[in-house]
Amino acid sequence: MSNHQNRIFGLTEAQVMIQSSVQDLLARCLPPEKVAQLDEDRQFPFEAYDAMAKAGWMGLPHPQEWGGSGGSFKDLAVLIEAIAYHNVQMASAYLTTVVYAGMHIRFGASEALKSRILPKLVSGELRLAFSLTEPQSGSDAASIVTRAVRDGDDYVITGQKIYITCAHVADHLVVVTKTSPDQGHRGISIFLVDVKSPGLCITPLRGLGRRMIHTNQVFFDGVRVPASHLLGELDGGWKNMMQGLNIERLCLAAAAAGNCQRIIDYAAAYARVRVQFGQAITHFQAIGHKFAEMQMMTETARVLTYRVADMLDAGLRPDMETAIAKAVATENNSKCADMGIQIMGGAGLMMDHEMQMYLRDSRVGTIGGGTSEIMRTVIAKNMDLG
Ligand SMILES: Cc1cc2nc3c(=O)[nH]c(=O)nc-3n(C[C@H](O)[C@H](O)[C@H](O)COP(=O)(O)OP(=O)(O)OC[C@H]3O[C@@H](n4cnc5c(N)ncnc54)[C@H](O)[C@@H]3O)c2cc1C
Repeated sequence: MSNHQNRIFGLTEAQVMIQSSVQDLLARCLPPEKVAQLDEDRQFPFEAYDAMAKAGWMGLPHPQEWGGSGGSFKDLAVLIEAIAYHNVQMASAYLTTVVYAGMHIRFGASEALKSRILPKLVSGELRLAFSLTEPQSGSDAASIVTRAVRDGDDYVITGQKIYITCAHVADHLVVVTKTSPDQGHRGISIFLVDVKSPGLCITPLRGLGRRMIHTNQVFFDGVRVPASHLLGELDGGWKNMMQGLNIERLCLAAAAAGNCQRIIDYAAAYARVRVQFGQAITHFQAIGHKFAEMQMMTETARVLTYRVADMLDAGLRPDMETAIAKAVATENNSKCADMGIQIMGGAGLMMDHEMQMYLRDSRVGTIGGGTSEIMRTVIAKNMDLG
């Protein structure tokens, strides 16, 4: 069996089409030279985002009545893996609007709000960002202090968010607030907030990686939002977030798996032509074993990701399996990038090669969307240890 056949084994014809068409599209509108330039300039890949929207990809996980194509979780995993094979930042840009924020619209918004937002999300006219984390509350998400207080027909939001991916290019933010501060996680409510609202200020943060999409601080100083923009039930936001977590982690695992394969292919293209001691370095067993190790990590990430997608498609609630997939895939992603640098030697550290970007971009995987430590806590909790 060829390598290609191995990679498409178990996928439907339509899923193989998803892989090849999204990769062809991104090869055309986001070639490596363009990624390098946008990453250096810290500029969002607008052209590639719009091209993906035009090709219909933003609608893949959303229902047909809102312009989507109602794909399965496995379809979504295949798509994300393929995007991240091309560029993991592009996968993150997609996920921020379409999944992390988009799922809150789909499952929490009123019909009127859905009909205003979802078709435009699908067509690419609107981008969103998901705003949960605060300076004092990361892993302990229930301890957020950003307040939303009812005032007539509005809520008034005051507080601060941090590390919000793509907020600077978003039209609306999905904002997690406290509406009943004494109630812990039972006092959380989620709102859709227009970024043009008076009192809302977004400032960029400079981070190690993912510089095309980067993160931001968001300040809310008495920001008014119509009560009709409540997503889900009042004080019921925690439940909505928990319901979305498995989908979010599935996507993070899929992105990491796709990026692992990219790292292998990039390192292999270099190693095959890099000659030392009169032969290509791939002929050294020490290098071959590194590639073997990376392929083992990649296959493990893929298999775990697809299994979780199948479980979600079967209507199960695979909390433990999703935490395993997320932790393993993201840890493998940064290990692969580190090994890729080692395979390339000094060249791996130079800005002229993509490998340094893979290392920078992959490092957040074990932190965002629940850290590896929190994933292990979720896994242990689901093991009936007493
Ligand atoms: C690049 C990037 C993009 C992001 N994008 C977004 C976004 O779009 N929207 C958003 O809302 N947030 C976003 N985040 C925030 C991200 O979800 C948080 O960084 C993450 O949840 C961890 O929170 P923290 O950074 O505050 O770390 P902390 O929670 O302070 O954790 C620090 C360390 O302590 C450990 N720790 C904490 N609690 C426990 C525990 N109970 N048991 C064991 N160990 C523990 C952690 O695992 C970690 O190693 C982003 C972050 C980054 C870096």
